[in-house]
Amino acid sequence: MEEKKTFRELGLSEEILQAIEKKGFEEPSPIQALTIPILLKGEKNIIGQAQTGTGKTAAFGLPILDTLTTNNSKHVQALILAPTRELAVQVSDEIISLKGEKRLSVAAIYGGQAMGEQLRRLRRGVDIVVGTPGRVQDHINRGSLDLSQLSFLILDEADEMLNMGFVDDIEKILESVPEEKKMLLFSATMPSKIKHIAKKYMGDYEIFEVKKRDLTSNLTEQIYFEVTRGDKFEALCRIVDIEEEFFGIVFCRTKVDVDDVS
Ligand code: AMP
Repeated sequence: MEEKKTFRELGLSEEILQAIEKKGFEEPSPIQALTIPILLKGEKNIIGQAQTGTGKTAAFGLPILDTLTTNNSKHVQALILAPTRELAVQVSDEIISLKGEKRLSVAAIYGGQAMGEQLRRLRRGVDIVVGTPGRVQDHINRGSLDLSQLSFLILDEADEMLNMGFVDDIEKILESVPEEKKMLLFSATMPSKIKHIAKKYMGDYEIFEVKKRDLTSNLTEQIYFEVTRGDKFEALCRIVDIEEEFFGIVFCRTKVDVDDVS
């Protein structure tokens, strides 16, 4: 079996290594081991076929945080596009938690939030913007978001963004960023529209796939019980009862089920 590399061996700087240690990550996830060295060297663009839970945020977040300069004033250096406000906030929180002491500012910019606050934030100067495509495009149109010096563009959950009808916004954004930027595209699936975007805008790129078997932690044992619908609740209660300490998440299909079960 191939020896697993440490974060240090992937080429990250001391400052970022300290932040990783503080965050509690012990070793790189498979997608991180693949993307971090390539992005640090700035060699090529990347398409990662990876789902949430694989550590993909840090896979692009860490090399971006490591590469960006801190003496920047008004230009956005990295733009991350995400399909929903929830994901934009989640990604921006994760990046903030990984930046350690490095003086980089991160802002989440999404539809539904008051424009005034976002305009003030952008005017003060932001290094990394995490945003939903529609709102990002609004800011470009208003002249409040300057992408002329962009170094990194990331499309997170690209297939979801296309499903949500953001294709025109994404293409407009891709046309307004410098050609030299490095681009990453993450998607769980690879429909033809994604391949079209890659072909048109990504130049020299490489595709990485995180295989299904890498998606689950080998610290988690997975079991299932076949029970009739009417017995499900009783079965769940027994499982909770027989565990000495039960810490868990119960997923339900509907709001009503969530209320009943809780
Ligand atoms: P993501 O796939 O980016 O949504 O990340 C899923 C979760 O895994 C997040 O809570 C991360 O903080 C965590 N995570 C990412 N990379 C690592 C790592 N190398 N070691 C431990 N946890 C990680």
